[in-house]
Amino acid sequence: MAKDFKSLKDCLLPAYIRSIVTASNLRLGREIVKEHGVEFVELGPEVAIAEVTPLGGVTRDTELRFTENGLKWKCSCTGTRLFCKHCAATAVAAKVKFDKM
Ligand SMILES: [Zn+2]
Repeated sequence: MAKDFKSLKDCLLPAYIRSIVTASNLRLGREIVKEHGVEFVELGPEVAIAEVTPLGGVTRDTELRFTENGLKWKCSCTGTRLFCKHCAATAVAAKVKFDKM
């Protein structure tokens, strides 16, 4: 699935993100972005590290990383198991930034 991906930006295409995140977590992630809840610590071709704070919620640390095996992620809420709303918010916000570069 991810063999054509060459950078983190390639992993953030909506069609791919929708294949790894639930519709509700994607919706919640977009809301976090709209409320400016994503603060990037690092954003580069291979990694996005962010602090993600839902409105009135707890700040979580997220990391999205491009590897030769595709996109890897982790979040301080659930580890690497689930592509959570915090990871979704990071992906959405990173795509916006990459599209402006
Ligand atoms: Zn999370």
